[in-house]
Amino acid sequence: MQQCIGCGLCIDACDAVISKLNQPLGLISYSSINLTEKLKKGLKAQVKLIRPKLY
Ligand code: SF4
Repeated sequence: MQQCIGCGLCIDACDAVISKLNQPLGLISYSSINLTEKLKKGLKAQVKLIRPKLY
């Protein structure tokens, strides 16, 4: 069984195909369930520049 390694090639491939179909881009992206739910509600995404894991 193979697993996703997060190379991102499918993101580029999907945008290339879906643009030919005149559909909105960004169907596949680096995101999380929490961020997707926030964006659906119209909230802004928060970027934390200082995170505890950095230390
Ligand atoms: S192409 Fe997409 S699904 Fe396949 S390994 Fe890369 S990121 Fe994962």
